Amino acid sequence: MIRTISYSHWNGCPRLKPLIFYRFTLILAFAAAVVSAHGATRGDLLRGAYGRYRANNDLLFYHLDIRVDPEKKFLQGKNTIRFRMLKDGKRIQLDLHPALQIDKILLGRVRLRHTRDLGAVFVDFPQVLKAGAEYTIDFYYSGHPVETGRFGAITFRKDPTGHPWVNTACEETGASVWWPNKDQWRDEVEGMEISVAIPNGLVDVSNGKFVGKTDLGDGYTRWDWRVQYPINNYDVSLNIGNYVHFSDRLGDLPLDFYVLPEDKPKAEQQFTQAKGMLQIFGHYFGDYPFPQDGYKLIEVPYSGMEHQTAVTYGNHFTNGYLGRDWVGSGISLRFDFIIIHESAHEWFGNSVTAADRSDMWIHEGFATYMESLYVESRWGRADALKYLNGLKPKVKNLEPIISARGVNSTPPIDQYFKGALFLNTLRSVVDNDPRWWALLHGFYQHFKYQNIMTEDVVEYFNKQTGMNLTPIFDEYLRHAALPVLELKWSPGGSLRYRWQAYEPGFAMPVLLGTPEHWQRITPTTVWQTMQTPVSRDQFQVATDLFYVKVDWMP
Ligand SMILES: [Zn+2]
Repeated sequence: MIRTISYSHWNGCPRLKPLIFYRFTLILAFAAAVVSAHGATRGDLLRGAYGRYRANNDLLFYHLDIRVDPEKKFLQGKNTIRFRMLKDGKRIQLDLHPALQIDKILLGRVRLRHTRDLGAVFVDFPQVLKAGAEYTIDFYYSGHPVETGRFGAITFRKDPTGHPWVNTACEETGASVWWPNKDQWRDEVEGMEISVAIPNGLVDVSNGKFVGKTDLGDGYTRWDWRVQYPINNYDVSLNIGNYVHFSDRLGDLPLDFYVLPEDKPKAEQQFTQAKGMLQIFGHYFGDYPFPQDGYKLIEVPYSGMEHQTAVTYGNHFTNGYLGRDWVGSGISLRFDFIIIHESAHEWFGNSVTAADRSDMWIHEGFATYMESLYVESRWGRADALKYLNGLKPKVKNLEPIISARGVNSTPPIDQYFKGALFLNTLRSVVDNDPRWWALLHGFYQHFKYQNIMTEDVVEYFNKQTGMNLTPIFDEYLRHAALPVLELKWSPGGSLRYRWQAYEPGFAMPVLLGTPEHWQRITPTTVWQTMQTPVSRDQFQVATDLFYVKVDWMP
């Protein structure tokens, strides 16, 4: 269903496999040759734009039913796609990576014609599909998917004891890298079934509630999972391995954990952190978003990913991020970064989802800020501020956090760290903690299970606070550089001040003076003068509460 309210990475080391990638070089070289004004390729436009053949329909349900051969690195099966037409039309756009073959597309028994254009698949119907009517098609496909992008998108590995280990993580590349779907962020299905047939003896863990498994009698067993909430495409996951399972509960919420047998003792210890995390995030935002589907942690060979109700985990069962003091303040070693960060996405990313990748800070800025809320809840405000301000060296301030829309763009890493520091700044602007907690809670509750854009966030905060926060949001999210507080000392304890900012209406309050006696002022982009009893060498700006640059003018 389309839940958009009002409006139309960091890249680690990509593990590109040169040999597998080779046969696509020609196709991709051609795509790259046609580049738009945004630097987007033709493939990016096909993936990123919400064009007429996407906008004419509304997704309702997927049943992904596939067989996976881990030895041959081969997939075969179908996705049954149910949708409602929003306008009369004879054509819709779906997506499937060119490496995979389309075996047939059926409407009932009628075989549908289709045209492929890079990753896009345009499906043509013999008759006009009527606005308001629902249709179901079966999209059959097969092939050897490519391994590409930060986490490989879909990887066929062996675990340390030699068992097959197949995992997906395709946020960056798009889910159509391994299964056919309407591969964009705006429209989500209402629910989904995932059936994965795999060699006997292995386990598949996908999203949602485990329904059961069926021995197919040919050496394969089918594992069935049911997703009972809206889900975005890149969250859909399969994890095939020699997993062992253990479980727990948090009230009525089932907690299920799947790890390699040799890691079970460590996991039983480390995964106890999940309960406290769920309670803390529940406190700030409201209950875990997907209670009927449960919460799962699944061991994988990469660091981790927020797959809805099936959070994948590869943080070596240690605190910090891959054993490191990730934020450098000592605090990140007190908790498991992957459990906290990836699970935070159950609220922001999975329940509240951005409608375009351009606005992905709604996932990453909030999830990073939620790390600091976890710290605040457990160890207090001072440590939370230390944690947040420890993020500053990671911020680049070279590109705006919101990237180009409709072109499959990837926002810069500032969406994480600057996004979190911006939210901390916004709390200081609101300057009333009970009100801030109510705002955060209300914001999540208002938009849960929906796909939104930054404009929706701004409108909500403006309406609820009665303030005009638009210039502040715009300054931090739509411009690269930080606002600069320009200060000029005059004799006799008088201080001149103004903001150097891109937004003409930028008038953000800030605290000055000394931590014992902060003075709250609201500079604008025009010089003003204040009196201060504080001497120049004692004088400070509360830059741990407001993420700004300070420039003393001569
Ligand atoms: Zn994240």
